[in-house]
Amino acid sequence: MDSPRRALYPGSFNPIHYGHLDIARRALGLFDELVIAIYVSPTKPDLFDIEERLTLVKESFKDEPRVRVASYSKLTVDYAHDVNATAIVRGLRVFSDFELEFRMALANRRLAPDIEIVNFIAAEEHIHISSSTIREIASLGGDVSTMTPAHVVTALKRRFAELKQQGSGSSFVVSLAD
Ligand code: ADP
Repeated sequence: MDSPRRALYPGSFNPIHYGHLDIARRALGLFDELVIAIYVSPTKPDLFDIEERLTLVKESFKDEPRVRVASYSKLTVDYAHDVNATAIVRGLRVFSDFELEFRMALANRRLAPDIEIVNFIAAEEHIHISSSTIREIASLGGDVSTMTPAHVVTALKRRFAELKQQGSGSSFVVSLAD
């Protein structure tokens, strides 16, 4: 029997939103299995810590047995090899994404020519969504329920209430700009 076609979908997912869910769903149309991997940056401050992000992503895919969720803190191509993925999936929203993704794809190809980079063009209705936009709107008490699932909306409310209590609500968000 052929081994399953497995792809890696890396990102910071801080937090996960409908744009990510759409890319994952479409990737599952091309691949048998998808590993959603949350990159743990040593320097970037996080609104949600890694455990919380893992929980939020897992909850989003609880009914999809072909998705595995994990975290990693190494070169993405090295992690792709670790999990036996033959492709890396990324989304493309706007032209500014394109330049970065193009450079990353070329660098990754140089590092690991055996791994294919697959870019999905964002769905029109999701182009405006990014984790940083969601964080900013949520920090100011705005409604993000059209951008991210209900369990993430709840987690955002709870997190910003905590930060407000600690007196670090909006300053935290400004420092989180992507
Ligand atoms: P964000 O940019 O929202 O913080 P990530 O850095 O976690 O998200 O991005 C992980 C991947 O998901 C990237 O390839 C990014 O281009 C893609 N992505 C993010 N938002 C969207 C969206 N609204 N539609 C399609 N792809 C997206």
